[in-house]
Amino acid sequence: MTDLQSIVEEIARELEPRFGEGRVADYIPQLARVNPRQFGIAVTTVDGDMFLGGDAEVPFSIQSISKVFTLTIALGKHGESIWSRVGREPSGSAFNSIVQLERENGIPRNPFINAGAIAITDLVLAGHTPKEAIGEIVRFVRYLADEDGIVVDHEVAKSEAATGFRNHALANFMRSFGKLDHPVDHVLGVYFHQCALSMSCRQLAKAGLYLAGGGRNPTTGHRVVSHLRARRINALMLTCGHYDGSGEFAYRVGLPGKSGVGGGILAIAPGKASIAVWSPGLNDNGNSLLGSTALEMLAERTGWSIFGY
Ligand code: GLN
Repeated sequence: MTDLQSIVEEIARELEPRFGEGRVADYIPQLARVNPRQFGIAVTTVDGDMFLGGDAEVPFSIQSISKVFTLTIALGKHGESIWSRVGREPSGSAFNSIVQLERENGIPRNPFINAGAIAITDLVLAGHTPKEAIGEIVRFVRYLADEDGIVVDHEVAKSEAATGFRNHALANFMRSFGKLDHPVDHVLGVYFHQCALSMSCRQLAKAGLYLAGGGRNPTTGHRVVSHLRARRINALMLTCGHYDGSGEFAYRVGLPGKSGVGGGILAIAPGKASIAVWSPGLNDNGNSLLGSTALEMLAERTGWSIFGY
């Protein structure tokens, strides 16, 4: 176990000369002004041990990583019927692409591209006001991480709303196909707030632990989803979690992972650990450049991979 601590520290140390590499998201000022030289890593095992390196306690905008949590809520609420609204295939396109939507009649390719995540948020809204839905998401993430201090950064949410022209286009397009049940403003209001959740690597790793533990968080004992559902969420993270970079991530890291444009990545080593990394500089696909590299190093040094040993 101390082994893991030294691996995590080594990774942070070895990457230090590269801190600042990549391009920080600049579509909203709150992300553009984040110090690019930050790097954090947190590994929490199914035995309940936690290993931290670098800026693992610094909160950042989790952005699209929230899509894993809303997918889990939507599956809990509606079961497998959600798959009539969203597909399960990798898109091979950018996270905010609109091109496939028309050809595929307003059914987004998967729940992790923006269009798919917006469709999922529409399902989370069922029976709720937007405020209640946001409350449900925040409470769910706190429950997963077993931490009451997790909050939404309202400035980020406001900026997302002010600049989210493309997300408005995606949502309006789906609504025109009759594929959203709620007003576009309501759905996007919730979507922008889930993206604006602020969490540290330590909190995020804890929140993902149920996916490493066969649907049950081994530290709290909470059964969040069934074994089968956890396996399937992991499958979607592997095939779709990094947009058009998902194949490359599977090849290099070999673990299910979900990235966010804030520079975070949640990765799952099933039966072993939940891992969160964060570094704001992104690669060309909008995934954390050093975060992906750190996970590649971790997978190599621990032998963790879903493809063999
Ligand atoms: N808030 C961003 C958006 O909706 C999230 C995208 C991402 O993290 N890839 O465009």
